[in-house]
Amino acid sequence: MENILLSFVIPCYRSEYTIGKVIEEIIDVVGEREGYDYEIIAVNDASPDHVYRVLCKLASDNHKIKIVNLAKNMGKHAAVLAGYSVVRGHFVVNLDDDYQCPIYELWKLADPVFHDECDIATAQYYSKKELLWKRMGSHVNLMISEIMLKKPKGLRFENFSVIKRFVCDQVIYYKNPYPFLEGLFLQVTDRVMAVEMEGRNRADDNTTGFTFWKSFSLFLNGFISFSVKPLRVATMIGFLFSAGGFLYGIYVVIRKLVDSEIAVGYSSIMAVLLFSSGLIMLMLGLIGEYIGRIFICINNAPQYVIRNTVNIKDGGKHMREDTR
Ligand code: UDP
Ligand code: MG
Repeated sequence: MENILLSFVIPCYRSEYTIGKVIEEIIDVVGEREGYDYEIIAVNDASPDHVYRVLCKLASDNHKIKIVNLAKNMGKHAAVLAGYSVVRGHFVVNLDDDYQCPIYELWKLADPVFHDECDIATAQYYSKKELLWKRMGSHVNLMISEIMLKKPKGLRFENFSVIKRFVCDQVIYYKNPYPFLEGLFLQVTDRVMAVEMEGRNRADDNTTGFTFWKSFSLFLNGFISFSVKPLRVATMIGFLFSAGGFLYGIYVVIRKLVDSEIAVGYSSIMAVLLFSSGLIMLMLGLIGEYIGRIFICINNAPQYVIRNTVNIKDGGKHMREDTR
Protein backbone atom coordinates (compact mmCIF):
# COMPACT_ATOMS: atom_id res chain seq x y z
CA MET A 1 0.00 0.00 0.00
CA GLU A 2 1.11 3.52 -0.74
CA ASN A 3 2.47 5.44 2.20
CA ILE A 4 0.43 8.30 3.60
CA LEU A 5 2.34 11.47 2.84
CA LEU A 6 2.44 14.22 5.46
CA SER A 7 3.45 17.72 4.34
CA PHE A 8 5.01 19.81 7.09
CA VAL A 9 4.80 23.51 6.29
CA ILE A 10 7.17 25.66 8.33
CA PRO A 11 7.43 29.43 7.93
CA CYS A 12 11.02 30.35 8.77
CA TYR A 13 12.13 33.66 10.17
CA ARG A 14 15.17 34.25 12.35
CA SER A 15 15.56 30.57 13.15
CA GLU A 16 19.00 29.54 11.93
CA TYR A 17 19.74 27.94 15.32
CA THR A 18 16.44 26.14 15.83
CA ILE A 19 15.22 24.93 12.44
CA GLY A 20 17.70 22.03 12.33
CA LYS A 21 16.38 20.69 15.63
CA VAL A 22 12.79 21.04 14.48
CA ILE A 23 13.40 19.13 11.24
CA GLU A 24 15.34 16.44 13.07
CA GLU A 25 12.46 15.91 15.48
CA ILE A 26 9.94 15.73 12.63
CA ILE A 27 11.95 13.01 10.91
CA ASP A 28 12.25 11.05 14.19
CA VAL A 29 8.56 11.28 14.99
CA VAL A 30 7.36 10.31 11.50
CA GLY A 31 9.80 7.38 11.62
CA GLU A 32 7.97 6.02 14.69
CA ARG A 33 5.09 4.74 12.57
CA GLU A 34 4.99 2.41 9.61
CA GLY A 35 3.15 3.52 6.51
CA TYR A 36 3.83 7.22 6.74
CA ASP A 37 6.16 9.38 4.73
CA TYR A 38 6.93 13.07 4.97
CA GLU A 39 7.94 16.13 3.03
CA ILE A 40 9.09 19.26 4.80
CA ILE A 41 8.35 22.56 3.12
CA ALA A 42 10.37 25.29 4.73
CA VAL A 43 9.35 28.75 3.59
CA ASN A 44 12.06 31.31 4.12
CA ASP A 45 10.15 34.52 4.77
CA ALA A 46 13.14 36.63 3.69
CA SER A 47 14.73 36.07 7.07
CA PRO A 48 17.59 38.47 7.83
CA ASP A 49 19.73 35.71 9.37
CA HIS A 50 21.37 32.72 7.68
CA VAL A 51 18.43 30.35 7.92
CA TYR A 52 18.30 30.02 4.12
CA ARG A 53 21.88 28.80 4.05
CA VAL A 54 21.12 26.32 6.85
CA LEU A 55 18.07 25.09 4.94
CA CYS A 56 20.02 24.67 1.70
CA LYS A 57 22.54 22.53 3.52
CA LEU A 58 19.78 20.34 4.98
CA ALA A 59 17.98 20.14 1.62
CA SER A 60 21.06 19.03 -0.24
CA ASP A 61 21.42 16.05 2.12
CA ASN A 62 17.73 15.16 2.17
CA HIS A 63 15.49 15.68 -0.85
CA LYS A 64 12.36 15.42 1.23
CA ILE A 65 13.29 18.82 2.62
CA LYS A 66 12.04 21.46 0.22
CA ILE A 67 12.54 25.18 0.30
CA VAL A 68 10.35 27.99 -0.91
CA ASN A 69 12.43 31.15 -0.78
CA LEU A 70 10.38 34.33 -0.66
CA ALA A 71 11.70 37.52 -2.20
CA LYS A 72 10.38 39.76 0.56
CA ASN A 73 9.23 39.44 4.13
CA MET A 74 5.47 38.98 3.84
CA GLY A 75 4.60 37.76 7.31
CA LYS A 76 3.79 34.33 8.67
CA HIS A 77 0.40 33.83 7.09
CA ALA A 78 1.48 34.72 3.56
CA ALA A 79 4.53 32.50 4.01
CA VAL A 80 2.34 29.58 5.02
CA LEU A 81 0.15 30.12 1.96
CA ALA A 82 3.24 30.15 -0.23
CA GLY A 83 4.10 26.77 1.30
CA TYR A 84 0.58 25.49 0.64
CA SER A 85 0.97 26.26 -3.05
CA VAL A 86 3.52 23.46 -3.40
CA VAL A 87 2.33 20.75 -0.97
CA ARG A 88 1.83 17.24 -2.31
CA GLY A 89 0.87 15.34 0.82
CA HIS A 90 -2.45 13.83 1.87
CA PHE A 91 -2.40 15.84 5.07
CA VAL A 92 -0.71 19.09 5.98
CA VAL A 93 0.92 19.82 9.33
CA ASN A 94 1.42 23.46 10.32
CA LEU A 95 4.13 24.28 12.79
CA ASP A 96 6.65 26.94 13.77
CA ASP A 97 10.38 26.99 13.27
CA ASP A 98 11.41 27.74 16.85
CA TYR A 99 10.89 24.34 18.51
CA GLN A 100 7.87 25.67 20.41
CA CYS A 101 5.47 23.15 18.91
CA PRO A 102 5.55 19.82 20.74
CA ILE A 103 6.23 17.76 17.65
CA TYR A 104 6.38 14.54 19.70
CA GLU A 105 2.60 14.93 20.14
CA LEU A 106 2.09 14.74 16.36
CA TRP A 107 0.08 11.52 16.34
CA LYS A 108 -2.20 12.64 19.13
CA LEU A 109 -2.97 15.69 17.02
CA ALA A 110 -3.15 13.94 13.65
CA ASP A 111 -5.16 10.82 14.49
CA PRO A 112 -8.53 12.59 14.75
CA VAL A 113 -7.93 14.00 11.27
CA PHE A 114 -6.79 10.66 9.87
CA HIS A 115 -9.92 9.03 11.31
CA ASP A 116 -12.14 11.73 9.84
CA GLU A 117 -13.33 12.97 13.21
CA CYS A 118 -12.60 16.48 11.98
CA ASP A 119 -11.07 18.39 9.05
CA ILE A 120 -8.71 20.44 11.19
CA ALA A 121 -7.11 19.57 14.51
CA THR A 122 -5.32 22.32 16.38
CA ALA A 123 -3.21 22.01 19.49
CA GLN A 124 -4.57 23.61 22.62
CA TYR A 125 -1.82 24.42 25.09
CA TYR A 126 -2.54 24.26 28.80
CA SER A 127 -0.63 27.40 29.57
CA LYS A 128 1.72 29.57 27.64
CA LYS A 129 4.31 32.04 28.77
CA GLU A 130 3.93 35.13 26.64
CA LEU A 131 4.54 38.82 26.79
CA LEU A 132 1.70 40.72 28.39
CA TRP A 133 0.71 42.74 25.32
CA LYS A 134 0.83 39.63 23.18
CA ARG A 135 -1.42 37.78 25.63
CA MET A 136 -3.82 40.70 25.67
CA GLY A 137 -3.68 40.85 21.88
CA SER A 138 -4.47 37.15 21.63
CA HIS A 139 -7.37 37.58 23.98
CA VAL A 140 -8.86 40.41 21.97
CA ASN A 141 -8.25 38.46 18.77
CA LEU A 142 -10.07 35.50 20.25
CA MET A 143 -13.09 37.58 21.14
CA ILE A 144 -13.14 39.31 17.79
CA SER A 145 -12.92 36.11 15.83
CA GLU A 146 -15.70 34.59 17.89
CA ILE A 147 -17.90 37.50 16.87
CA MET A 148 -16.62 38.10 13.35
CA LEU A 149 -15.99 34.59 12.12
CA LYS A 150 -18.69 32.89 14.19
CA LYS A 151 -15.96 30.75 15.64
CA PRO A 152 -16.96 28.03 18.09
CA LYS A 153 -16.61 29.47 21.58
CA GLY A 154 -13.28 29.01 23.32
CA LEU A 155 -11.62 27.48 20.30
CA ARG A 156 -8.16 28.88 19.87
CA PHE A 157 -5.93 28.14 16.91
CA GLU A 158 -2.38 27.47 17.98
CA ASN A 159 0.80 27.34 15.94
CA PHE A 160 0.59 23.54 15.68
CA SER A 161 -2.22 22.01 13.63
CA VAL A 162 -3.05 19.26 11.16
CA ILE A 163 -5.39 19.92 8.26
CA LYS A 164 -6.80 17.85 5.46
CA ARG A 165 -5.41 18.49 2.03
CA PHE A 166 -8.66 19.89 0.64
CA VAL A 167 -8.61 22.70 3.22
CA CYS A 168 -5.24 23.82 1.99
CA ASP A 169 -6.26 23.40 -1.67
CA GLN A 170 -9.19 25.66 -0.96
CA VAL A 171 -7.45 28.45 0.96
CA ILE A 172 -4.79 29.02 -1.70
CA TYR A 173 -7.50 30.40 -3.96
CA TYR A 174 -7.54 33.39 -1.67
CA LYS A 175 -5.44 35.97 -3.50
CA ASN A 176 -5.94 38.91 -1.16
CA PRO A 177 -2.61 40.32 0.04
CA TYR A 178 -3.88 40.40 3.64
CA PRO A 179 -4.30 36.74 4.53
CA PHE A 180 -5.50 35.59 7.94
CA LEU A 181 -5.31 31.81 8.12
CA GLU A 182 -7.76 31.24 10.91
CA GLY A 183 -10.42 33.16 9.01
CA LEU A 184 -9.65 31.27 5.82
CA PHE A 185 -9.88 27.91 7.57
CA LEU A 186 -13.22 28.75 9.12
CA GLN A 187 -14.54 29.83 5.74
CA VAL A 188 -13.85 26.33 4.47
CA THR A 189 -14.97 24.15 7.37
CA ASP A 190 -16.16 24.26 10.96
CA ARG A 191 -15.24 20.68 11.71
CA VAL A 192 -12.38 21.82 13.91
CA MET A 193 -11.14 19.90 16.91
CA ALA A 194 -8.90 21.11 19.72
CA VAL A 195 -6.42 18.62 21.16
CA GLU A 196 -5.03 19.51 24.56
CA MET A 197 -1.30 19.23 25.10
CA GLU A 198 1.61 20.85 26.87
CA GLY A 199 3.29 23.75 25.06
CA ARG A 200 7.04 24.23 24.89
CA ASN A 201 9.35 27.19 25.17
CA ARG A 202 11.47 28.41 22.30
CA ALA A 203 14.73 26.53 21.88
CA ASP A 204 16.77 29.72 21.59
CA ASP A 205 16.84 32.82 23.75
CA ASN A 206 15.32 35.02 21.12
CA THR A 207 12.02 36.59 21.86
CA THR A 208 9.15 36.43 19.48
CA GLY A 209 9.64 37.46 15.84
CA PHE A 210 6.30 39.18 16.03
CA THR A 211 6.90 42.80 16.74
CA PHE A 212 4.07 44.81 18.15
CA TRP A 213 3.47 46.22 14.69
CA LYS A 214 3.27 42.79 13.02
CA SER A 215 0.81 41.57 15.63
CA PHE A 216 -1.27 44.67 15.19
CA SER A 217 -1.43 44.35 11.42
CA LEU A 218 -2.38 40.70 11.77
CA PHE A 219 -5.10 41.74 14.16
CA LEU A 220 -6.37 44.20 11.55
CA ASN A 221 -6.40 41.43 8.94
CA GLY A 222 -8.63 39.33 11.14
CA PHE A 223 -10.74 42.30 12.13
CA ILE A 224 -11.34 43.76 8.71
CA SER A 225 -10.66 41.22 5.99
CA PHE A 226 -13.56 38.94 6.71
CA SER A 227 -16.41 41.18 7.58
CA VAL A 228 -17.93 44.59 7.07
CA LYS A 229 -19.30 44.52 10.62
CA PRO A 230 -16.72 47.06 11.91
CA LEU A 231 -17.85 49.44 9.20
CA ARG A 232 -21.46 49.01 10.25
CA VAL A 233 -20.63 49.54 13.92
CA ALA A 234 -18.68 52.65 12.99
CA THR A 235 -21.56 53.99 10.96
CA MET A 236 -23.94 53.26 13.83
CA ILE A 237 -21.77 55.05 16.38
CA GLY A 238 -21.29 57.94 14.00
CA PHE A 239 -25.05 58.16 13.53
CA LEU A 240 -25.74 58.11 17.28
CA PHE A 241 -23.22 60.82 18.01
CA SER A 242 -24.35 63.10 15.22
CA ALA A 243 -27.96 62.68 16.36
CA GLY A 244 -26.86 63.51 19.91
CA GLY A 245 -24.95 66.53 18.64
CA PHE A 246 -27.97 67.72 16.67
CA LEU A 247 -30.31 67.48 19.68
CA TYR A 248 -27.79 69.19 21.93
CA GLY A 249 -27.48 71.97 19.35
CA ILE A 250 -31.24 72.54 19.40
CA TYR A 251 -31.18 72.58 23.20
CA VAL A 252 -28.39 75.19 23.25
CA VAL A 253 -30.22 77.45 20.77
CA ILE A 254 -33.51 77.27 22.68
CA ARG A 255 -31.79 77.95 25.99
CA LYS A 256 -30.07 80.95 24.48
CA LEU A 257 -33.39 82.25 23.14
CA VAL A 258 -35.14 81.80 26.48
CA ASP A 259 -32.34 83.25 28.63
CA SER A 260 -30.18 85.72 26.71
CA GLU A 261 -27.88 86.18 29.74
CA ILE A 262 -26.24 82.85 29.18
CA ALA A 263 -22.92 82.96 27.45
CA VAL A 264 -22.38 79.70 25.70
CA GLY A 265 -19.40 78.10 27.38
CA TYR A 266 -16.20 78.02 25.46
CA SER A 267 -15.09 74.89 27.26
CA SER A 268 -18.20 72.88 26.56
CA ILE A 269 -18.00 73.81 22.89
CA MET A 270 -14.40 72.79 22.79
CA ALA A 271 -15.18 69.53 24.53
CA VAL A 272 -17.92 68.66 22.09
CA LEU A 273 -15.84 69.79 19.15
CA LEU A 274 -12.84 67.75 20.12
CA PHE A 275 -14.84 64.71 20.99
CA SER A 276 -16.86 64.71 17.81
CA SER A 277 -13.96 65.54 15.54
CA GLY A 278 -12.01 62.74 17.21
CA LEU A 279 -14.82 60.39 16.47
CA ILE A 280 -14.99 61.54 12.88
CA MET A 281 -11.30 60.87 12.50
CA LEU A 282 -11.81 57.39 13.88
CA MET A 283 -14.61 56.62 11.47
CA LEU A 284 -12.73 58.09 8.56
CA GLY A 285 -9.69 56.06 9.49
CA LEU A 286 -11.71 52.89 9.52
CA ILE A 287 -13.33 53.67 6.19
CA GLY A 288 -9.95 54.65 4.80
CA GLU A 289 -8.63 51.27 5.86
CA TYR A 290 -11.24 49.52 3.78
CA ILE A 291 -10.74 51.78 0.80
CA GLY A 292 -6.98 51.40 1.03
CA ARG A 293 -7.33 47.66 1.03
CA ILE A 294 -9.71 47.68 -1.90
CA PHE A 295 -7.21 49.84 -3.72
CA ILE A 296 -4.34 47.51 -2.99
CA CYS A 297 -6.42 44.47 -3.94
CA ILE A 298 -7.46 45.85 -7.30
CA ASN A 299 -3.87 46.83 -7.82
CA ASN A 300 -3.06 43.13 -7.62
CA ALA A 301 -0.42 43.48 -4.96
CA PRO A 302 1.06 40.03 -4.52
CA GLN A 303 0.43 38.00 -1.38
CA TYR A 304 3.99 36.72 -1.73
CA VAL A 305 6.66 36.49 -4.38
CA ILE A 306 8.73 33.34 -4.66
CA ARG A 307 12.33 34.09 -5.54
CA ASN A 308 13.34 30.45 -6.04
CA THR A 309 12.64 26.96 -4.79
CA VAL A 310 14.85 24.02 -3.84
CA ASN A 311 13.93 20.35 -4.32
CA ILE A 312 10.59 21.28 -5.86
CA LYS A 313 10.77 20.00 -9.41
CA ASP A 314 7.72 21.11 -11.34
CA GLY A 315 7.03 23.97 -9.01
CA GLY A 316 4.32 21.93 -7.32
CA LYS A 317 0.87 21.13 -8.56
CA HIS A 318 -0.68 24.35 -7.38
CA MET A 319 2.10 26.77 -8.03
CA ARG A 320 0.50 29.77 -9.63
CA GLU A 321 1.83 31.03 -12.92
CA ASP A 322 2.37 34.51 -11.60
CA THR A 323 4.51 33.44 -8.67
CA ARG A 324 7.12 31.61 -10.69
N1 UDP B 1 7.31 34.27 11.02
C1 UDP B 1 7.38 34.53 9.65
N2 UDP B 1 7.55 35.82 9.24
C2 UDP B 1 7.65 36.86 10.11
C3 UDP B 1 7.56 36.58 11.50
C4 UDP B 1 7.39 35.28 11.91
O1 UDP B 1 7.32 33.62 8.83
O2 UDP B 1 7.80 37.98 9.66
C5 UDP B 1 7.12 32.88 11.46
C6 UDP B 1 8.25 32.36 12.30
O3 UDP B 1 9.26 31.84 11.50
C7 UDP B 1 7.58 31.27 13.11
C8 UDP B 1 6.15 31.77 13.25
O4 UDP B 1 5.99 32.79 12.28
O5 UDP B 1 7.57 30.03 12.44
C9 UDP B 1 5.86 32.29 14.63
O6 UDP B 1 6.81 33.27 14.95
P1 UDP B 1 7.35 33.48 16.42
O7 UDP B 1 7.81 32.18 16.99
O8 UDP B 1 8.34 34.56 16.35
O9 UDP B 1 6.05 33.98 17.14
P2 UDP B 1 5.30 33.41 18.42
O10 UDP B 1 5.72 31.98 18.64
O11 UDP B 1 5.70 34.31 19.52
O12 UDP B 1 3.85 33.52 18.07
MG1 MG C 1 7.26 30.96 18.41
